[in-house]
Amino acid sequence: MRLSDNINYAAKLIQDGRVVAFPTETVYGLGANALNPMAVAKIYEIKERPSFDPLIIHIADIRQLEALTNCRDKRVYQLAERFWPGPLTMVLPKSSKVPEIVTSGLPTVGIRMPNNAIAMELIQKSNCPVAAPSANKFGRISPTTAAHVRKQLSNVDYILDGGKTNVGIESTIIELTDTGCKILRNGIITQEELETILSIDDRTNHVTLSAPGMLKSHYSPAKKFMIADSEMFAMDKSKAGLISFSGKLESGFKNVIKVSSNANLTDYAVNMFEAMHLLEDDNDIDLIIAEPVPESGIGNAIMDRLRKAAYNWRQDLV
Ligand code: AMP
Ligand code: MG
Repeated sequence: MRLSDNINYAAKLIQDGRVVAFPTETVYGLGANALNPMAVAKIYEIKERPSFDPLIIHIADIRQLEALTNCRDKRVYQLAERFWPGPLTMVLPKSSKVPEIVTSGLPTVGIRMPNNAIAMELIQKSNCPVAAPSANKFGRISPTTAAHVRKQLSNVDYILDGGKTNVGIESTIIELTDTGCKILRNGIITQEELETILSIDDRTNHVTLSAPGMLKSHYSPAKKFMIADSEMFAMDKSKAGLISFSGKLESGFKNVIKVSSNANLTDYAVNMFEAMHLLEDDNDIDLIIAEPVPESGIGNAIMDRLRKAAYNWRQDLV
């Protein structure tokens, strides 16, 4: 079948209340009609996602935003103009049209317009906003290819294959405040870029939501995972795999996956989840070590994912 036939088929499934995995520019999403609570419930079931973790609604037209939120703040439109379609999710007061199951009972809803032609066509043809978290089991590594989805989710109705995603990490999530906005999750759209439009509120102590994007553990490989540190030099690395960035730490490792050929942070973001999947699937290794990067700009988003992947494997927990 041609890609357009596949998109039509996937859109028909969504209209029928079924669940479809599809590519976005960030990671693959697991999508259902956001206005159909029964369809949305299937997303939670397939992902084994706890019901307290709200979903992001994907739209293809700014008019859909108006139906989903009562917020008419002009900054929303400025941000949409600058960053949509793109990897920015805005958390806004929800309208009564949004079912409670989408937002886990919160009075707010996360909305974004993805910058991926297949995703946009799918949403348009589905003729509804599409609720879609990442298409992985809860807490596990996010998928950047259709094969990654297949590996984790055997019971999804259909996987729309659009090749490898080209941003590779989840969207930046923001919430507007009276004075500017606060960043709820770091992504490829950085604080510096957002500051071209509004100021960033650093007082993050009012983030009370308990959701995986904000939990300490997430994106976790099934094998022991750690961030490279000075202790690593003395370790036996004959059964270890390295996610390599600078190329300087590679000696002694059984398997090395280079995420960039020229130490480019965007490449790290694009390739990091794929590298985790490859090393998780390599039977010759039992430990995955990832090279850290400085925490500024995109480095914040990368280190956020690495820390969450490593959290369950900390020495003091094992
Ligand atoms: P995922 O699509 O799997 O990357 O997860 C979506 C994430 O978006 C959740 O885990 C939350 O962190 C965040 N999110 C979605 N809706 C809201 C909301 N209404 N308020 C705050 N965070 C949200
Ligand atoms: Mg996710």
